[in-house]
Amino acid sequence: AKYTKQDIIDIVQDEDVEFIRLQFTDIFGTLKNVAITSSQLEKALDNKCMFDGASIQGFARVEESDMYLRPDYDTLAIFPWRPQQGKVARLICDIYNPDGSPFEGDPRYILKKVTKKAKDLGYTFNVGPECEFFLYHMDDDGQPTTITHEKAGYFDLGPIDLGENARRDMVLTLEDMGFEVEASHHEVAPAQHEIDFKYDEGIVTADNIMTYKLVIRTIAKRHGLFATFMPKPKFGECGSGMHTNMSLSRDGKNIFADPSDKFGLSKEAYYFIGGIMKHIKAITAITNPIVNSYKRLVPGFEAPVHIAWSAKNRSPLIRIPASKGESTRIELRSPDSACNPYLALALCLAAGMEGIEEKIEPMESIDINTYDMSEKELKALNLEELPSNLSKALDEMEKDELLRQVLGDHVFNIYLETKRKEWREYSSQVTKWEIDQFLYKI
Ligand code: ADP
Ligand code: GLU
Ligand code: MG
Ligand code: MG
Repeated sequence: AKYTKQDIIDIVQDEDVEFIRLQFTDIFGTLKNVAITSSQLEKALDNKCMFDGASIQGFARVEESDMYLRPDYDTLAIFPWRPQQGKVARLICDIYNPDGSPFEGDPRYILKKVTKKAKDLGYTFNVGPECEFFLYHMDDDGQPTTITHEKAGYFDLGPIDLGENARRDMVLTLEDMGFEVEASHHEVAPAQHEIDFKYDEGIVTADNIMTYKLVIRTIAKRHGLFATFMPKPKFGECGSGMHTNMSLSRDGKNIFADPSDKFGLSKEAYYFIGGIMKHIKAITAITNPIVNSYKRLVPGFEAPVHIAWSAKNRSPLIRIPASKGESTRIELRSPDSACNPYLALALCLAAGMEGIEEKIEPMESIDINTYDMSEKELKALNLEELPSNLSKALDEMEKDELLRQVLGDHVFNIYLETKRKEWREYSSQVTKWEIDQFLYKI
């Protein structure tokens, strides 16, 4: 561990920290927090801070709603955007029941369980995400819009790229918070951006994704802009993905690498791909969790539609990036940033591990753009598609025993129930598209 209890107390004192935010993530991927003052720090560090679980969607019933926050000391970080006297720090917390057992609906606990299983077999799970987002204007009432006057595209720079200054501030803030930022650039669609940070162990990366989103939104607002991670804010333009780069290491060495293989991949890497492919339809319900997610997974926008993998092309589900050695990894291209990263990573790791345990061989790789293939060609290759909407993904999830086992009954059932409701509510809406199509001719 990085910090002891005394270290935290000392840092809070030395750095003039006045407020400490105790944070956690709910089942649906929303960051939550309660602020305490430094006078309550010891109590919090002794795991005595309680909250009402019944007020967090999907956590608990009113009758058994007391829950405890257990700060993870190593997650201490100071918010650089808050005042520098009487600073604000945060601690990410695990959630416990009053009897001292971990709460089975805590997504961080779910990822920790799978990680431990992999660790017991000697594997460390390394993950690097690429979270894309849009920067839009706010209206006169401070409400978000989908308006931008920007026309920049992939890798463009200022003065065409109107988000340059905001992005610079975001990178500096992330660095202040301990991130190692590897690259940042304008993305394909107008006002779409990406900032990539270095991979780390699964649990650290899931924490980082939550922090990253908070930083991006906060700094955007300081620049009078609104940041959204919504997967497909505009019809006809690229959506925003959260490509998930994954590898396993053992004793500090990347075991996905095998220089003698034609793609530079080891047996374990192939089996890992095989395991993910086996479960991907069900996993999609978690990695692509909202109705809107499925509007991104359509041909023509570098988002995957078919369950295939390639070492070259960016249309399939999994791509093997060209960089080798310690950077050997697989890039899962379907997830989007609406997902709960703890649950998404837990499922990817569990499916990959099953692939290794059961030696699941993936199909042959495909090096042609699947978007350009005819129905006939796709059929000949036996290519399956990802679920085309949330409802179909939930059907797949419901059938998948691995998902039930990894998520546990609590999360599995509540997730399905809540998301089915979301789907029903959505499907009964009358959209502008329908009015435009049918009102005048029927
Ligand atoms: P792309 O090739 O899609 O543009 P990027 O270079 O933008 O990918 O992002 C690469 C991500 O993969 C970064 O987060 C990086 O730290 C991460 N990465 C690099 N090596 C590994 C590895 N061995 N395991 C997991 N992630 C890795
Ligand atoms: N924006 C694309 C997506 O929806 C990905 C573009 C890229 O390859 O970075 O996944
Ligand atoms: Mg990108
Ligand atoms: Mg990528």
